[in-house]
Amino acid sequence: MDDCLFCKIAGGKIPAKLVLDEPDIAAFEDINPQAPVHLLLIPRRHVASLNETTEEDAPLLGRLLTAARRLAREKGIDASGYRVVVNTMAGAGQSVFHVHLHLLGGRPMHWPPG
Ligand code: AMP
Ligand code: ZN
Repeated sequence: MDDCLFCKIAGGKIPAKLVLDEPDIAAFEDINPQAPVHLLLIPRRHVASLNETTEEDAPLLGRLLTAARRLAREKGIDASGYRVVVNTMAGAGQSVFHVHLHLLGGRPMHWPPG
């Protein structure tokens, strides 16, 4: 999608610190990190939010989640703990409308989130 920030990052048109570069998914460092480790994982295909996914996207969503697990291990936060967040729609804090997983870790986390 032409005017989508994360499509541009996925297509290499806007620079980002990529940590994962696969045919159907990518991951990169969040530009405004909220924790010592803060990565964003995206499908390369444009999907606006979790609301737009279907049962057919289950394998893709599964790959995003297992990639988050893999990256958590690579970043050394698997044992101390990490959080995977999918903000969905503005009321939940979604600001970029290309579905993404936040992977956050490296500091204590509180519950419930704000
Ligand atoms: P959300 O608010 O859940 O939609 O998350 C969007 C995230 O994208 C925020 O954490 C932003 O800091 C991050 N972000 C915005 N622009 C960029 C960018 N150019 N590169 C990396 N991360 C970005
Ligand atoms: Zn997009």
